[in-house]
Amino acid sequence: MDTKRWSVDKNVDNLTGYPQITQAADLLLNNEVVAFPTETVYGLGANAYSDQAVAKIFEAKGRPADNPLIIHIADEAMISDFVEEIPENAKKLMKAYWPGPLTILLKMKQGVLSEMATPGLSTVGVRMPDHPVALALLQKTKLPIAAPSANSSGRPSPTAAEHVWDDLQGKIAGIVDGGTTGVGLESTVLDCTEDVPVILRPGGITAQQIQEVIGEIAVDPALTDVEQQPKSPGMKYRHYAPDATLVLVDGDRSEIQRLILDKQKEGLKVGVLTTSENASFYQADKVIACGSRDNLNSVAGSLYETLRNFNNAELDLIFSEMFPDEGVGQAIMNRLIKAAGYRVISF
Ligand code: AMP
Ligand code: MG
Repeated sequence: MDTKRWSVDKNVDNLTGYPQITQAADLLLNNEVVAFPTETVYGLGANAYSDQAVAKIFEAKGRPADNPLIIHIADEAMISDFVEEIPENAKKLMKAYWPGPLTILLKMKQGVLSEMATPGLSTVGVRMPDHPVALALLQKTKLPIAAPSANSSGRPSPTAAEHVWDDLQGKIAGIVDGGTTGVGLESTVLDCTEDVPVILRPGGITAQQIQEVIGEIAVDPALTDVEQQPKSPGMKYRHYAPDATLVLVDGDRSEIQRLILDKQKEGLKVGVLTTSENASFYQADKVIACGSRDNLNSVAGSLYETLRNFNNAELDLIFSEMFPDEGVGQAIMNRLIKAAGYRVISF
């Protein structure tokens, strides 16, 4: 398949009339899949009503069939078509954080959306993305768009059109290039069908930001305990992984440097994931500074690109520093732990 590519200036106010948007929207209306930027990562979108369209997402990504898709909308009025009810706390959160990186799980009306988008579930995850290109496509098609991250399943999510191209060229109908994404990590997934809403995946909106609006919330125990079955089907899969084995190190930089030297002595090519503060300290086959510790948002924004860049160095092993497990750090650590397949060395 020939993958079309359009460039769009994300700083333009209203893009709906732009020919790039019209052409991409036409493909979506014809049940083809198209990748587009959101404020979190690039999404791979399809008409959420159509089995034929949604099936193409799973095929292009190689995504396991039991991993549900988030439904994107540009207008809250679209939700009533496929959602039973919106509880008060969900309404408050939509008002506070939509458009934005918060996916809200709601009770779903059966038989409206493609079954494949929410396989065997009674809930549906909905979000309004905060990105002019995504919103223009949603407005133009007037469709709810099912969209997971636009990477091959298991690889780091794409934060630039180039990453989508590397993973999916020839497998999808088009890519709208709107430059690099902002947040860099996926949305927070919050289950609002429970009396006390539950975070199933940490992401762009922090637990504290949610608490500020609705008070008490819970966190899926599977996020901290590997033995538990996660409530979000997608969270059980290995994810975000670079080609080399990634190991997180709960120790200081001298301890990490010692590990690097030990492994190099064994003949391995070793990289280290650090931040701008420590980058000049290390001696390794590849040192990548992923943002700055002073500003965890910069770490979130660069994390997936950093994991992809390690692949160019053909390493055997990568050691990574750890990050504080608070604020956006919770989402960073959640992604790093998964990328590392839960391998952590503690000193
Ligand atoms: P992705 O869009 O690739 O970031 O993946 C979407 C994430 O949202 C996966 O972890 C899914 O398991 C989760 N998700 C989407 N819809 C639901 C739902 N109805 N119930 C539980 N988790 C969901
Ligand atoms: Mg994904």
